[in-house]
Amino acid sequence: MMSFATSQASNSTVRQSLDLAPDGDLVFVVGSEQRRLRVHSQQVRNASPAFNTMFQPKFKEGQALLQEGSAEVELPEDNADALEIILQVIHGYSDQVPTTLEPSRLLEVARACEKYDMARPLAFAIKVWLDCKVIRSSKELWAITMAACLFRHQQVFAEATSALAFNFGGSYLDLAREFEAANVIEFSVLLEIAVMLEETRNRLRMDLITYILTKDWSVPSLSRKTKMWPGLIAEFSQQAARLETSSIFLVLKRMQEDLFESVNGNAERLVIACRWNTTFRAIAENFRKGQEITGKLCILCLLKEEHREHE
Ligand SMILES: [Zn+2]
Repeated sequence: MMSFATSQASNSTVRQSLDLAPDGDLVFVVGSEQRRLRVHSQQVRNASPAFNTMFQPKFKEGQALLQEGSAEVELPEDNADALEIILQVIHGYSDQVPTTLEPSRLLEVARACEKYDMARPLAFAIKVWLDCKVIRSSKELWAITMAACLFRHQQVFAEATSALAFNFGGSYLDLAREFEAANVIEFSVLLEIAVMLEETRNRLRMDLITYILTKDWSVPSLSRKTKMWPGLIAEFSQQAARLETSSIFLVLKRMQEDLFESVNGNAERLVIACRWNTTFRAIAENFRKGQEITGKLCILCLLKEEHREHE
């Protein structure tokens, strides 16, 4: 049974200690709040190659375990909530592990998971946490991207980066900078993600413009004057200009509305407006469908690691 103890001295409700293993031989003292987490050293060693190394006899933590039968290890730079969640998982408290994590907390868990190399024993929990469908802002989407990168979860990383490429119109660099201080991932990696996203979004914008411009817009039966309808040219250039500053998603959304409706009662123009609306909508639809395969980044490319060619 897991037992909790709350510090009497402080009037905060933050838990100060937690016995994940009441007879455990190891106590982690975590974070600035010095939360004490009692665990079994063998459980921790099985789950983490990094901890396994730390508790070898040649290191002082390993010596303490060997000679005194127990050890206390301070981890002041780690996040206590994150480590507590991870230790809950590896000690088998599946019923107490939260099934949803705020993106900021998920990111802390991902950081600790990467630091102590525990993606494997956490794989099942990671799958549940990453299956989070409620993302309220681009900042949260960026946090999910970083967490997926730390967990080395390619599928979620691909989906999150594609969503950022399509749905975000602002500066990726600014987004990256918001996480610089948190120091969760090396800033050079954040910059690399920002640059890759910028390139991806530019390519998608160019693809969309090319798609629109190379379309055959002529309607053979109509008079020359109607074919040259300036409203169409204006609308094209407006969409192209919007692409520079707004998200691709918003431009596609606009394209799916009835763009050419103000045609002043001219029957010939009504016909062409209707056709062009249909064509514009079809282009947007096709482009949106393409989102399933385009705009996704690859973790291994990002980290410049050897891997097979992409399909
Ligand atoms: Zn790759």
